[in-house]
Amino acid sequence: MKEKVNSIIEQLKLRYPDAPCALHYKKDYELMISVRLSAQCTDARVNLVTPALFAAYPSLEAMASADVAHIEELVHSCGFYKHKARDIVLACQMLLRDYGGKVPDTMEKLLRIPGVGRKTANLLLGDLYGTPGSVVCDTHCIRIASRLGLTDGTKDPEKCEQQLRRILPPEESSDFCHRIVLFGREICTARSPQCAQCPLRSWCKEIK
Ligand code: SF4
Repeated sequence: MKEKVNSIIEQLKLRYPDAPCALHYKKDYELMISVRLSAQCTDARVNLVTPALFAAYPSLEAMASADVAHIEELVHSCGFYKHKARDIVLACQMLLRDYGGKVPDTMEKLLRIPGVGRKTANLLLGDLYGTPGSVVCDTHCIRIASRLGLTDGTKDPEKCEQQLRRILPPEESSDFCHRIVLFGREICTARSPQCAQCPLRSWCKEIK
């Protein structure tokens, strides 16, 4: 398994030398907000919405004291806008009140923040702090890890996270997850994977 994992990582690095986060942000709390907006929504849609949101409320303090109804208007097209708008304001208030105006750097503290679950927390730990062992299990990661036999096929994000954490080198895990998202969009799509041109086909369980 170790050899297989290392080979998959190398192939992904060759194809996607950079492993950027798909969400656009300049400040730590902006990433937190963007990840919240990305639930059940595409990163592309979030990136269309956030410039106006961040321009309207250009500081953490401004976001924390924003009128939730106005945030709802600005994020409406991301879906679930009422919950998302409420969480954004409450989360920013908590950062100011409890965390000195910074996105905290531990899973335990992050999970206290409204709207932050394990997926978001892992992404923030990996991208903001480079925390080893941060595994972001989104829909692409769950699907592809199963196809490659890196998990037992679980669709449960937390189980997927645990299983991947056991086999991924900790310092590679965050970038691995970003690359898997790129791979899932370009080649190993949910409905019509491009298996003929897949660089990972020799490790894939779907290929007989
Ligand atoms: Fe996905 Fe096909 Fe590659 Fe398997 S061979 S990882 S199903 S694209």
